[in-house]
Amino acid sequence: MALDLEDSPAMSLTASLGSDIVIRDETEIARYCRDWHGDVSSSAVAVLRPRSTQDVAACVKACHALNLAIVPQGGNTGLVLGGIPDDPVRQVVISLERMNAIRNIDADDFSAVVEAGCILSELKDAIADKAMFFPLALGAQGSCRIGGNVSTNAGGINVLRYGMTRELVLGLEVVLPDGSILNGLSTLRKDNRGIDLKQLFIGAEGTLGIITAVSVKLTPYPDQVATALLGLASLEDVITLYRRARRDCCDLMSAFEFMPPLALTLAREAIPDLPLPMSGDYPAYVLMEISGSGLVDIQDLMERFLEGVMEDGLVLDGTLPSSQAQAKNLWLIREGMNEGQAKRGAHMRSDVSVPLSRLPAFVHDAEQAIHAALPDCICVSYGHVGDGNVHLNCLPPSDLSAAEKAERIYRSKTVLNEVVDQYAGSMSAEHGIGRLKQMDFDVRLPEAKRKLLTAIKRAIDPDLVMNPGCQLNLSPES
Ligand SMILES: Cc1cc2nc3c(=O)[nH]c(=O)nc-3n(C[C@H](O)[C@H](O)[C@H](O)COP(=O)(O)OP(=O)(O)OC[C@H]3O[C@@H](n4cnc5c(N)ncnc54)[C@H](O)[C@@H]3O)c2cc1C
Repeated sequence: MALDLEDSPAMSLTASLGSDIVIRDETEIARYCRDWHGDVSSSAVAVLRPRSTQDVAACVKACHALNLAIVPQGGNTGLVLGGIPDDPVRQVVISLERMNAIRNIDADDFSAVVEAGCILSELKDAIADKAMFFPLALGAQGSCRIGGNVSTNAGGINVLRYGMTRELVLGLEVVLPDGSILNGLSTLRKDNRGIDLKQLFIGAEGTLGIITAVSVKLTPYPDQVATALLGLASLEDVITLYRRARRDCCDLMSAFEFMPPLALTLAREAIPDLPLPMSGDYPAYVLMEISGSGLVDIQDLMERFLEGVMEDGLVLDGTLPSSQAQAKNLWLIREGMNEGQAKRGAHMRSDVSVPLSRLPAFVHDAEQAIHAALPDCICVSYGHVGDGNVHLNCLPPSDLSAAEKAERIYRSKTVLNEVVDQYAGSMSAEHGIGRLKQMDFDVRLPEAKRKLLTAIKRAIDPDLVMNPGCQLNLSPES
Protein backbone atom coordinates (compact mmCIF):
# COMPACT_ATOMS: atom_id res chain seq x y z
CA MET A 1 0.00 0.00 0.00
CA ALA A 2 1.37 3.46 -0.88
CA LEU A 3 2.31 5.60 2.11
CA ASP A 4 -0.09 8.48 2.58
CA LEU A 5 2.28 11.40 3.24
CA GLU A 6 -0.57 13.47 4.66
CA ASP A 7 -0.66 10.97 7.52
CA SER A 8 3.05 11.01 8.32
CA PRO A 9 3.86 12.44 11.79
CA ALA A 10 6.21 15.03 10.26
CA MET A 11 3.44 16.29 7.97
CA SER A 12 1.03 16.44 10.88
CA LEU A 13 3.55 18.46 12.90
CA THR A 14 3.86 20.92 10.01
CA ALA A 15 0.09 21.13 9.75
CA SER A 16 -0.29 22.06 13.41
CA LEU A 17 2.88 24.13 13.99
CA GLY A 18 3.68 25.62 10.60
CA SER A 19 6.67 25.23 8.30
CA ASP A 20 8.59 28.04 10.01
CA ILE A 21 8.97 25.81 13.07
CA VAL A 22 9.20 22.32 11.56
CA ILE A 23 12.24 20.99 9.67
CA ARG A 24 11.48 17.82 7.72
CA ASP A 25 14.31 17.81 5.22
CA GLU A 26 16.60 14.86 6.01
CA THR A 27 19.82 16.69 5.19
CA GLU A 28 18.88 19.56 7.47
CA ILE A 29 17.75 17.16 10.19
CA ALA A 30 21.14 15.41 10.07
CA ARG A 31 22.90 18.49 11.50
CA TYR A 32 20.91 18.10 14.74
CA CYS A 33 21.47 14.39 14.98
CA ARG A 34 25.26 14.16 15.01
CA ASP A 35 27.26 14.37 18.24
CA TRP A 36 30.01 16.96 18.77
CA HIS A 37 32.86 14.58 17.95
CA GLY A 38 31.08 13.21 14.89
CA ASP A 39 31.36 9.68 16.35
CA VAL A 40 27.58 9.05 16.42
CA SER A 41 24.89 9.99 13.89
CA SER A 42 21.17 9.28 13.92
CA SER A 43 17.96 10.79 12.60
CA ALA A 44 14.60 12.09 13.84
CA VAL A 45 10.99 12.40 12.72
CA ALA A 46 11.54 16.17 12.53
CA VAL A 47 13.38 19.04 14.16
CA LEU A 48 11.23 21.75 15.75
CA ARG A 49 12.65 25.24 16.21
CA PRO A 50 10.28 27.31 18.37
CA ARG A 51 10.72 31.08 18.74
CA SER A 52 8.91 31.58 22.06
CA THR A 53 7.87 29.80 25.24
CA GLN A 54 4.32 29.56 23.84
CA ASP A 55 5.77 27.93 20.71
CA VAL A 56 7.59 25.39 22.87
CA ALA A 57 4.35 24.59 24.71
CA ALA A 58 2.58 24.15 21.37
CA CYS A 59 5.39 21.86 20.12
CA VAL A 60 5.18 19.70 23.23
CA LYS A 61 1.39 19.39 22.91
CA ALA A 62 1.64 18.55 19.20
CA CYS A 63 4.21 15.81 19.91
CA HIS A 64 2.00 14.48 22.68
CA ALA A 65 -1.01 14.29 20.38
CA LEU A 66 1.04 12.25 17.90
CA ASN A 67 2.60 10.01 20.56
CA LEU A 68 6.07 11.30 19.68
CA ALA A 69 8.91 11.56 22.18
CA ILE A 70 10.97 14.73 22.58
CA VAL A 71 14.73 15.27 22.68
CA PRO A 72 15.50 18.86 23.75
CA GLN A 73 18.65 20.35 22.26
CA GLY A 74 20.74 23.44 22.97
CA GLY A 75 24.15 23.86 21.36
CA ASN A 76 24.66 20.11 20.92
CA THR A 77 28.09 20.22 22.57
CA GLY A 78 27.12 17.64 25.21
CA LEU A 79 29.56 14.75 25.36
CA VAL A 80 27.25 11.95 26.53
CA LEU A 81 24.68 11.71 23.70
CA GLY A 82 21.85 13.23 25.73
CA GLY A 83 20.88 15.80 23.13
CA ILE A 84 20.66 13.67 20.01
CA PRO A 85 17.87 11.18 19.30
CA ASP A 86 18.32 7.43 19.04
CA ASP A 87 14.92 6.51 17.60
CA PRO A 88 14.35 8.08 14.16
CA VAL A 89 10.71 7.00 13.93
CA ARG A 90 9.50 8.09 17.36
CA GLN A 91 11.67 11.00 18.44
CA VAL A 92 11.53 14.68 17.59
CA VAL A 93 14.33 17.14 18.36
CA ILE A 94 13.20 20.45 19.86
CA SER A 95 16.06 22.88 19.32
CA LEU A 96 16.09 26.03 21.45
CA GLU A 97 18.52 27.80 19.10
CA ARG A 98 16.02 30.49 18.07
CA MET A 99 15.14 31.38 21.66
CA ASN A 100 18.33 33.30 22.27
CA ALA A 101 17.26 36.68 23.66
CA ILE A 102 18.64 38.22 26.81
CA ARG A 103 15.39 39.38 28.37
CA ASN A 104 16.90 41.55 31.10
CA ILE A 105 20.21 42.51 32.71
CA ASP A 106 19.94 44.08 36.15
CA ALA A 107 23.27 45.50 37.29
CA ASP A 108 21.78 46.65 40.63
CA ASP A 109 20.48 43.18 41.47
CA PHE A 110 23.50 41.39 39.93
CA SER A 111 21.15 39.23 37.87
CA ALA A 112 20.04 38.56 34.30
CA VAL A 113 17.13 36.75 32.69
CA VAL A 114 18.11 34.92 29.54
CA GLU A 115 16.38 32.59 27.11
CA ALA A 116 17.54 28.99 27.01
CA GLY A 117 18.97 29.21 23.49
CA CYS A 118 21.38 32.06 24.24
CA ILE A 119 24.97 31.00 23.54
CA LEU A 120 27.02 31.13 26.74
CA SER A 121 29.76 33.41 25.33
CA GLU A 122 27.12 35.81 24.00
CA LEU A 123 25.65 36.20 27.48
CA LYS A 124 29.14 36.72 28.91
CA ASP A 125 29.97 39.37 26.28
CA ALA A 126 26.68 41.21 26.68
CA ILE A 127 27.06 41.59 30.44
CA ALA A 128 30.79 42.41 30.25
CA ASP A 129 29.70 45.69 28.64
CA LYS A 130 27.98 46.48 31.91
CA ALA A 131 31.03 45.45 34.00
CA MET A 132 29.26 42.25 35.07
CA PHE A 133 30.44 38.66 34.88
CA PHE A 134 28.76 35.25 34.53
CA PRO A 135 31.36 32.85 35.88
CA LEU A 136 30.53 29.68 33.94
CA ALA A 137 33.54 29.06 31.65
CA LEU A 138 34.11 26.04 29.43
CA GLY A 139 35.87 25.15 26.20
CA ALA A 140 32.54 24.90 24.37
CA GLN A 141 31.27 28.33 25.46
CA GLY A 142 31.17 29.68 21.91
CA SER A 143 28.58 27.00 20.98
CA CYS A 144 26.83 25.66 24.09
CA ARG A 145 23.59 27.33 25.18
CA ILE A 146 22.45 28.37 28.61
CA GLY A 147 19.53 25.89 28.69
CA GLY A 148 21.97 23.09 27.89
CA ASN A 149 24.35 24.34 30.59
CA VAL A 150 21.56 24.29 33.17
CA SER A 151 20.23 20.92 31.98
CA THR A 152 23.69 19.36 32.32
CA ASN A 153 24.59 21.37 35.45
CA ALA A 154 27.81 22.19 33.60
CA GLY A 155 31.09 22.67 35.45
CA GLY A 156 34.15 24.11 33.74
CA ILE A 157 37.27 25.86 34.90
CA ASN A 158 35.79 28.28 37.46
CA VAL A 159 33.88 25.78 39.60
CA LEU A 160 36.40 25.87 42.42
CA ARG A 161 35.49 29.52 43.08
CA TYR A 162 31.91 29.94 41.87
CA GLY A 163 30.43 26.43 41.96
CA MET A 164 28.67 24.39 39.27
CA THR A 165 25.87 25.90 37.16
CA ARG A 166 23.36 24.92 39.86
CA GLU A 167 24.89 27.53 42.13
CA LEU A 168 24.51 30.25 39.50
CA VAL A 169 20.79 29.74 38.82
CA LEU A 170 18.19 31.88 40.57
CA GLY A 171 15.10 30.77 38.68
CA LEU A 172 13.76 28.82 35.71
CA GLU A 173 10.92 28.90 33.23
CA VAL A 174 10.08 25.36 32.12
CA VAL A 175 7.60 23.82 29.70
CA LEU A 176 6.44 20.63 31.37
CA PRO A 177 5.77 17.36 29.51
CA ASP A 178 2.01 18.10 29.32
CA GLY A 179 2.69 21.47 27.68
CA SER A 180 1.94 23.59 30.74
CA ILE A 181 4.37 26.34 31.74
CA LEU A 182 6.10 26.55 35.12
CA ASN A 183 7.09 30.18 35.56
CA GLY A 184 9.78 30.42 38.21
CA LEU A 185 11.92 33.23 36.81
CA SER A 186 12.50 34.83 40.18
CA THR A 187 15.70 36.76 40.77
CA LEU A 188 15.46 36.46 44.56
CA ARG A 189 18.72 35.41 46.19
CA LYS A 190 16.95 33.96 49.18
CA ASP A 191 13.62 32.19 48.99
CA ASN A 192 13.07 29.40 51.44
CA ARG A 193 9.41 28.65 50.78
CA GLY A 194 9.53 24.88 50.86
CA ILE A 195 11.10 22.53 48.32
CA ASP A 196 13.09 24.34 45.64
CA LEU A 197 11.47 22.89 42.51
CA LYS A 198 13.95 24.37 40.04
CA GLN A 199 16.60 21.99 41.38
CA LEU A 200 14.67 19.09 39.79
CA PHE A 201 15.32 20.45 36.30
CA ILE A 202 18.96 21.43 36.83
CA GLY A 203 21.04 18.47 35.70
CA ALA A 204 17.95 16.55 34.51
CA GLU A 205 19.31 16.54 30.92
CA GLY A 206 15.88 17.29 29.45
CA THR A 207 14.16 14.30 31.05
CA LEU A 208 11.58 16.30 33.02
CA GLY A 209 10.74 19.29 30.82
CA ILE A 210 12.13 21.91 28.50
CA ILE A 211 13.86 24.88 30.08
CA THR A 212 12.89 27.98 28.11
CA ALA A 213 14.47 30.75 30.20
CA VAL A 214 16.81 31.10 33.15
CA SER A 215 17.49 33.84 35.70
CA VAL A 216 21.14 33.80 36.67
CA LYS A 217 23.41 35.30 39.30
CA LEU A 218 26.05 37.74 38.11
CA THR A 219 29.19 38.98 39.83
CA PRO A 220 31.31 42.10 39.28
CA TYR A 221 33.56 41.74 36.22
CA PRO A 222 37.04 40.63 37.30
CA ASP A 223 39.06 43.29 35.51
CA GLN A 224 42.30 42.03 36.99
CA VAL A 225 43.38 38.52 35.99
CA ALA A 226 46.77 36.92 36.68
CA THR A 227 47.58 33.62 34.99
CA ALA A 228 50.61 31.38 35.53
CA LEU A 229 51.89 28.14 34.05
CA LEU A 230 53.91 26.19 36.58
CA GLY A 231 56.14 23.11 36.37
CA LEU A 232 56.09 20.70 39.35
CA ALA A 233 57.72 17.42 40.33
CA SER A 234 54.58 15.30 40.85
CA LEU A 235 50.79 15.19 41.10
CA GLU A 236 51.20 15.01 44.90
CA ASP A 237 52.95 18.39 44.74
CA VAL A 238 50.10 19.70 42.56
CA ILE A 239 47.61 18.96 45.34
CA THR A 240 49.91 20.47 47.99
CA LEU A 241 50.21 23.59 45.83
CA TYR A 242 46.43 23.75 45.44
CA ARG A 243 45.87 23.67 49.20
CA ARG A 244 48.44 26.36 49.70
CA ALA A 245 46.97 28.53 46.94
CA ARG A 246 43.53 28.30 48.53
CA ARG A 247 44.95 29.60 51.79
CA ASP A 248 47.36 32.21 50.42
CA CYS A 249 45.12 33.62 47.69
CA CYS A 250 41.97 33.38 49.82
CA ASP A 251 38.94 32.98 47.55
CA LEU A 252 40.44 34.81 44.60
CA MET A 253 41.76 31.71 42.82
CA SER A 254 39.43 31.14 39.87
CA ALA A 255 41.11 28.25 38.01
CA PHE A 256 43.60 25.52 38.83
CA GLU A 257 44.07 23.05 35.99
CA PHE A 258 46.48 20.12 35.97
CA MET A 259 48.18 18.86 32.79
CA PRO A 260 50.71 16.07 32.21
CA PRO A 261 53.91 16.62 30.13
CA LEU A 262 52.18 15.05 27.12
CA ALA A 263 49.79 18.05 27.12
CA LEU A 264 52.40 20.22 25.46
CA THR A 265 53.05 17.65 22.71
CA LEU A 266 49.33 17.17 22.09
CA ALA A 267 48.70 20.92 22.00
CA ARG A 268 51.48 21.33 19.43
CA GLU A 269 49.98 18.51 17.33
CA ALA A 270 46.74 20.51 17.19
CA ILE A 271 48.27 24.00 16.93
CA PRO A 272 51.75 23.59 15.38
CA ASP A 273 52.85 27.22 15.84
CA LEU A 274 51.72 27.50 19.46
CA PRO A 275 54.61 29.00 21.48
CA LEU A 276 55.63 26.74 24.38
CA PRO A 277 56.60 28.97 27.28
CA MET A 278 58.88 26.69 29.34
CA SER A 279 62.11 25.08 28.31
CA GLY A 280 62.23 22.25 30.89
CA ASP A 281 60.20 19.07 30.84
CA TYR A 282 58.37 18.64 34.15
CA PRO A 283 56.35 15.66 35.41
CA ALA A 284 53.33 17.87 36.13
CA TYR A 285 52.04 21.27 35.02
CA VAL A 286 49.53 23.60 36.62
CA LEU A 287 47.67 26.38 34.86
CA MET A 288 46.51 28.69 37.58
CA GLU A 289 44.44 31.87 37.54
CA ILE A 290 43.70 34.46 40.22
CA SER A 291 41.19 37.16 39.43
CA GLY A 292 39.34 40.02 41.06
CA SER A 293 38.03 43.51 40.80
CA GLY A 294 38.26 46.69 42.80
CA LEU A 295 41.03 47.51 45.25
CA VAL A 296 42.83 44.15 45.43
CA ASP A 297 46.19 44.00 43.57
CA ILE A 298 45.91 40.64 41.82
CA GLN A 299 49.27 40.75 40.01
CA ASP A 300 51.10 41.50 43.25
CA LEU A 301 49.25 38.67 44.99
CA MET A 302 50.24 36.18 42.27
CA GLU A 303 53.89 37.32 42.31
CA ARG A 304 54.17 37.07 46.10
CA PHE A 305 52.48 33.68 46.09
CA LEU A 306 54.83 32.31 43.42
CA GLU A 307 57.88 33.75 45.18
CA GLY A 308 56.97 31.77 48.30
CA VAL A 309 56.22 28.44 46.62
CA MET A 310 59.33 28.63 44.44
CA GLU A 311 61.53 29.45 47.43
CA ASP A 312 60.11 26.38 49.15
CA GLY A 313 60.89 24.22 46.11
CA LEU A 314 57.24 23.27 45.55
CA VAL A 315 57.18 24.88 42.12
CA LEU A 316 60.24 24.13 39.97
CA ASP A 317 59.61 26.62 37.18
CA GLY A 318 56.94 29.09 36.19
CA THR A 319 55.89 31.55 33.60
CA LEU A 320 53.82 34.68 34.25
CA PRO A 321 52.57 36.18 31.00
CA SER A 322 53.08 39.89 30.54
CA SER A 323 50.18 40.40 28.13
CA GLN A 324 46.66 39.12 27.55
CA ALA A 325 47.85 37.51 24.31
CA GLN A 326 50.48 35.51 26.19
CA ALA A 327 47.92 34.45 28.80
CA LYS A 328 45.60 33.34 26.00
CA ASN A 329 48.40 31.19 24.59
CA LEU A 330 48.69 29.41 27.94
CA TRP A 331 44.99 28.57 27.82
CA LEU A 332 45.46 27.40 24.23
CA ILE A 333 47.76 24.67 25.56
CA ARG A 334 44.89 23.43 27.73
CA GLU A 335 42.38 23.61 24.87
CA GLY A 336 44.83 22.34 22.23
CA MET A 337 45.57 19.21 24.22
CA ASN A 338 41.90 18.20 23.78
CA GLU A 339 42.07 18.76 20.04
CA GLY A 340 45.41 16.91 19.89
CA GLN A 341 43.80 13.84 21.44
CA ALA A 342 40.92 14.03 18.96
CA LYS A 343 43.46 14.19 16.12
CA ARG A 344 44.94 10.89 17.27
CA GLY A 345 41.54 9.28 16.59
CA ALA A 346 38.83 7.58 18.63
CA HIS A 347 39.76 7.25 22.28
CA MET A 348 38.22 6.67 25.68
CA ARG A 349 37.20 10.00 27.25
CA SER A 350 36.24 10.17 30.87
CA ASP A 351 35.10 12.72 33.37
CA VAL A 352 35.52 11.30 36.85
CA SER A 353 35.97 12.65 40.36
CA VAL A 354 37.29 11.41 43.68
CA PRO A 355 37.90 13.17 46.99
CA LEU A 356 40.71 15.69 46.48
CA SER A 357 43.00 14.09 49.06
CA ARG A 358 42.88 10.77 47.18
CA LEU A 359 43.40 12.15 43.69
CA PRO A 360 47.13 11.37 43.21
CA ALA A 361 46.70 7.77 44.43
CA PHE A 362 43.61 7.36 42.26
CA VAL A 363 45.33 8.60 39.07
CA HIS A 364 48.30 6.33 39.80
CA ASP A 365 46.11 3.25 40.41
CA ALA A 366 43.79 3.89 37.47
CA GLU A 367 46.63 4.46 34.99
CA GLN A 368 48.42 1.35 36.27
CA ALA A 369 45.27 -0.78 35.97
CA ILE A 370 44.66 0.43 32.41
CA HIS A 371 48.28 -0.13 31.41
CA ALA A 372 48.15 -3.65 32.84
CA ALA A 373 44.98 -4.46 30.87
CA LEU A 374 45.93 -2.59 27.68
CA PRO A 375 49.69 -2.21 27.43
CA ASP A 376 49.59 -0.68 23.94
CA CYS A 377 47.42 2.30 25.01
CA ILE A 378 48.49 5.69 26.40
CA CYS A 379 46.74 7.32 29.37
CA VAL A 380 46.34 11.09 29.51
CA SER A 381 45.12 12.48 32.84
CA TYR A 382 44.34 16.17 33.23
CA GLY A 383 41.62 18.53 34.30
CA HIS A 384 40.01 20.56 37.02
CA VAL A 385 41.96 18.95 39.87
CA GLY A 386 40.94 21.68 42.29
CA ASP A 387 37.51 20.03 42.20
CA GLY A 388 38.90 16.48 42.43
CA ASN A 389 37.77 16.15 38.79
CA VAL A 390 40.05 14.49 36.27
CA HIS A 391 39.63 13.58 32.63
CA LEU A 392 41.49 10.27 32.60
CA ASN A 393 41.53 9.37 28.92
CA CYS A 394 42.98 6.36 27.14
CA LEU A 395 44.38 6.61 23.60
CA PRO A 396 44.67 3.39 21.56
CA PRO A 397 47.47 3.18 18.96
CA SER A 398 46.34 5.17 15.93
CA ASP A 399 47.04 2.36 13.44
CA LEU A 400 44.42 -0.01 14.92
CA SER A 401 41.18 -0.76 13.08
CA ALA A 402 37.96 0.93 14.23
CA ALA A 403 36.78 -2.33 15.81
CA GLU A 404 40.07 -2.83 17.69
CA LYS A 405 39.91 0.75 18.96
CA ALA A 406 36.28 0.32 20.07
CA GLU A 407 37.24 -2.80 22.00
CA ARG A 408 40.08 -0.97 23.80
CA ILE A 409 37.82 2.00 24.55
CA TYR A 410 35.22 -0.28 26.09
CA ARG A 411 37.75 -2.25 28.15
CA SER A 412 39.62 0.82 29.41
CA LYS A 413 36.34 2.42 30.50
CA THR A 414 35.35 -0.73 32.39
CA VAL A 415 38.73 -0.88 34.17
CA LEU A 416 38.57 2.84 34.98
CA ASN A 417 35.05 2.64 36.41
CA GLU A 418 36.11 -0.21 38.69
CA VAL A 419 38.91 1.93 40.12
CA VAL A 420 36.53 4.90 40.48
CA ASP A 421 34.20 2.64 42.49
CA GLN A 422 37.07 1.55 44.75
CA TYR A 423 37.72 5.21 45.51
CA ALA A 424 34.01 5.99 46.15
CA GLY A 425 34.20 8.45 43.27
CA SER A 426 31.81 9.56 40.53
CA MET A 427 31.94 8.17 36.98
CA SER A 428 30.46 11.45 35.76
CA ALA A 429 31.78 14.54 37.51
CA GLU A 430 30.34 17.14 35.15
CA HIS A 431 29.26 15.90 31.70
CA GLY A 432 26.15 14.06 32.92
CA ILE A 433 24.77 10.65 32.02
CA GLY A 434 22.98 11.06 28.69
CA ARG A 435 22.59 7.86 26.72
CA LEU A 436 26.30 7.08 26.65
CA LYS A 437 26.67 6.42 30.38
CA GLN A 438 23.13 5.24 31.05
CA MET A 439 24.04 1.62 31.70
CA ASP A 440 27.11 2.42 33.81
CA PHE A 441 24.92 4.79 35.84
CA ASP A 442 22.13 2.24 36.17
CA VAL A 443 24.22 -0.59 37.58
CA ARG A 444 25.57 1.74 40.27
CA LEU A 445 22.22 3.17 41.39
CA PRO A 446 21.44 2.41 45.03
CA GLU A 447 17.88 1.08 45.41
CA ALA A 448 16.56 4.03 47.44
CA LYS A 449 17.88 6.50 44.89
CA ARG A 450 16.47 4.49 41.98
CA LYS A 451 13.02 4.49 43.63
CA LEU A 452 13.06 8.24 44.15
CA LEU A 453 14.36 9.05 40.65
CA THR A 454 11.77 6.75 39.08
CA ALA A 455 8.96 8.24 41.18
CA ILE A 456 9.96 11.81 40.22
CA LYS A 457 10.15 10.92 36.53
CA ARG A 458 6.76 9.17 36.54
CA ALA A 459 5.10 11.98 38.49
CA ILE A 460 6.26 14.74 36.13
CA ASP A 461 6.38 12.77 32.87
CA PRO A 462 3.89 9.87 33.26
CA ASP A 463 3.87 9.13 29.51
CA LEU A 464 7.68 9.06 29.34
CA VAL A 465 7.82 11.50 26.45
CA MET A 466 10.79 13.57 27.60
CA ASN A 467 14.17 12.34 26.37
CA PRO A 468 13.53 8.59 26.74
CA GLY A 469 16.65 6.49 27.32
CA CYS A 470 18.56 9.43 28.75
CA GLN A 471 19.62 8.97 32.40
CA LEU A 472 16.94 6.34 33.18
CA ASN A 473 15.69 3.67 30.85
CA LEU A 474 12.08 3.20 31.92
CA SER A 475 9.31 1.49 30.03
CA PRO A 476 5.60 2.13 30.58
CA GLU A 477 5.05 -1.11 32.47
CA SER A 478 8.31 -1.22 34.54
C1 LIG B 1 35.26 21.36 23.71
C2 LIG B 1 34.28 21.04 24.82
C3 LIG B 1 34.60 21.37 26.13
C4 LIG B 1 33.70 21.09 27.16
N1 LIG B 1 34.05 21.41 28.44
C5 LIG B 1 33.18 21.17 29.43
C6 LIG B 1 33.52 21.51 30.78
O1 LIG B 1 34.60 21.99 31.07
N2 LIG B 1 32.59 21.27 31.73
C7 LIG B 1 31.37 20.72 31.44
O2 LIG B 1 30.56 20.54 32.36
N3 LIG B 1 31.04 20.36 30.19
C8 LIG B 1 31.91 20.57 29.18
N4 LIG B 1 31.58 20.22 27.92
C9 LIG B 1 30.28 19.55 27.66
C10 LIG B 1 29.17 20.53 27.19
O3 LIG B 1 29.68 21.66 26.63
C11 LIG B 1 28.26 20.91 28.34
O4 LIG B 1 27.61 19.76 28.79
C12 LIG B 1 27.20 21.96 27.98
O5 LIG B 1 26.59 22.40 29.18
C13 LIG B 1 26.13 21.45 27.02
O6 LIG B 1 25.36 22.55 26.56
P1 LIG B 1 24.60 22.46 25.15
O7 LIG B 1 23.79 23.69 24.99
O8 LIG B 1 25.54 22.15 24.08
O9 LIG B 1 23.63 21.23 25.43
P2 LIG B 1 23.23 20.03 24.45
O10 LIG B 1 24.41 19.24 24.09
O11 LIG B 1 22.39 20.54 23.35
O12 LIG B 1 22.31 19.17 25.44
C14 LIG B 1 22.85 18.58 26.58
C15 LIG B 1 21.71 17.92 27.38
O13 LIG B 1 20.81 18.91 27.88
C16 LIG B 1 19.49 18.74 27.32
N5 LIG B 1 19.01 20.08 27.00
C17 LIG B 1 19.61 21.01 26.20
N6 LIG B 1 18.90 22.15 26.20
C18 LIG B 1 17.82 21.93 27.01
C19 LIG B 1 16.71 22.73 27.44
N7 LIG B 1 16.58 23.99 27.04
N8 LIG B 1 15.81 22.18 28.26
C20 LIG B 1 15.92 20.89 28.68
N9 LIG B 1 16.94 20.10 28.32
C21 LIG B 1 17.88 20.62 27.51
C22 LIG B 1 19.67 17.84 26.13
O14 LIG B 1 18.52 17.08 25.88
C23 LIG B 1 20.85 16.99 26.55
O15 LIG B 1 20.41 15.93 27.37
C24 LIG B 1 32.46 20.46 26.87
C25 LIG B 1 32.15 20.13 25.55
C26 LIG B 1 33.04 20.41 24.54
C27 LIG B 1 32.67 20.03 23.13
